[in-house]
Amino acid sequence: MADAQNIDNHIAALTAKTEKLQSQKEMLLKEINKIEEALQATCNMYARYLPPILDYVEDKNPAFVNSLRQLSTAIKNGESKTKIEQLLTRVQTDMLKDAPKTTGQKEKSSFLSGLFKTSDSGEDYLDNLKAGYIELINSLKETIDSQYTPKLNQIAASIQLAESFDSITQLRNELFSLIHQYIYNVGSDREKITAFVKEIVKRILQIEAGITNTYEHTHATVESNEEFSNLLNHEIGALKNSVGVSKRLEDLKNHVSQTLSSIETALKEKTVKDRAIKSVSEKNRSDFQAGFSKLKKELDQAIQHSKDLETKLNQDPLTKVYNRRAYTKRIADEMDRFLRYQTIFSILVLDIDFFKKVNDTYGHAIGDKCLQEITRRTAPVLRKNDMLARYGGEEFVVIMPETPVDGAVVVAEKIRKSIEKIEFIYKADTIRMTVSIGVSQVKDGDKSHEVIFERADAALYRAKSEGRNRVITG
Ligand code: GH3
Ligand code: MG
Ligand code: MG
Repeated sequence: MADAQNIDNHIAALTAKTEKLQSQKEMLLKEINKIEEALQATCNMYARYLPPILDYVEDKNPAFVNSLRQLSTAIKNGESKTKIEQLLTRVQTDMLKDAPKTTGQKEKSSFLSGLFKTSDSGEDYLDNLKAGYIELINSLKETIDSQYTPKLNQIAASIQLAESFDSITQLRNELFSLIHQYIYNVGSDREKITAFVKEIVKRILQIEAGITNTYEHTHATVESNEEFSNLLNHEIGALKNSVGVSKRLEDLKNHVSQTLSSIETALKEKTVKDRAIKSVSEKNRSDFQAGFSKLKKELDQAIQHSKDLETKLNQDPLTKVYNRRAYTKRIADEMDRFLRYQTIFSILVLDIDFFKKVNDTYGHAIGDKCLQEITRRTAPVLRKNDMLARYGGEEFVVIMPETPVDGAVVVAEKIRKSIEKIEFIYKADTIRMTVSIGVSQVKDGDKSHEVIFERADAALYRAKSEGRNRVITG
């Protein structure tokens, strides 16, 4: 007797352990699916934003293009995070180091080429800066909605009147704010955002390249002038001394000293001017970088915002599984594929048995919790490509691509059994639920997805009338 009792206890312990392991396995499978989806989303994002960057820089900056291509391949091959980070750093360095030069022959499409033309005086620089911004504003007017035109005109007018670099910087910030505002207002219109992002990426690269170039050029000019000036000072000193040795050359000495003094003054003035250009250029560069990172952050947020909206559009808020809208779109796609390539698929229509009683006995809030629990238990039974959606109320659908009816029945049975096992504890009561499931596979002669749904729904109706808690094929 005692032995039999021991064996029973042992079996019970093993059963409990098996169930625990099973649920751990389900959770892990779900985690893997999530990670795979996140990875896919990241890859898609890169696939969307890298091509426009490559398009723009092609032929202009080979080192940059090359490092971008390496990055692209690494992402495609699923290389490690460290490797990708290394490549990203290289892309960044190459972008700055080998930035296209705007001096020399004129670029056809460079809207800021005038702006970054190196100039000899501060005024030219300001004028070029103004011209560049006016051109940018004009092209923005063509790209974005007309509701922004008055504000753009106002910024353009203020730029025309600007008399200092500082006031231009302030107006540039206003322009950035307007772009942010536009991106937010575009909201869920993904196509529009993507096109705009492409354009902005292209232009930002041009600005960055131009500024780097101007800065480097000015920096070099100042340095070489300083060297020249030192050399000349040395020569002047030597000459002054040598003319001092002969009294007969008094007149010549005076004349030469005078000339040299005026050269000295001119040089000093030039150095001061060059220094001023250098400091404007440095300020321009750091302001631009601040604006650039702000814009980049806003763009990332806007992209995330649009992704969130898309998720909301397709998600059932209570159970977080797909909603009917997403189901309709997906089954229409599956049907198209079947009609074109004869790739089969099956669907399940699942309805909770006597769910009204759960609501009536325990209240609607508990009913809602039961719905959440049912989807939580169903999802791990499915494959990554299957789609679970809430069709309405307490009715769910599952689309199973490339699955024949017998495979679909096996999955339906698994779902039915795992729901039957749920023990939902409420106060002193244990709530148990069962589901009835209708299964149907797409068939030759089916012309629309509604036909398959109707077949599965009719099978579900039969499952109900034959006693519920069962799977029937239609
Ligand atoms: P059976 O399907 O087995 O024939 O019986 P049933 O009681 O489930 O069928 P019926 O379609 O008559 O009732 C469905 C119930 O599901 C009615 C409604 O109260 C409940 N229901 C629908 N949507 C929700 C929801 O979002 N939350 C809750 N708590 N209940 C819901
Ligand atoms: Mg129902
Ligand atoms: Mg029901």
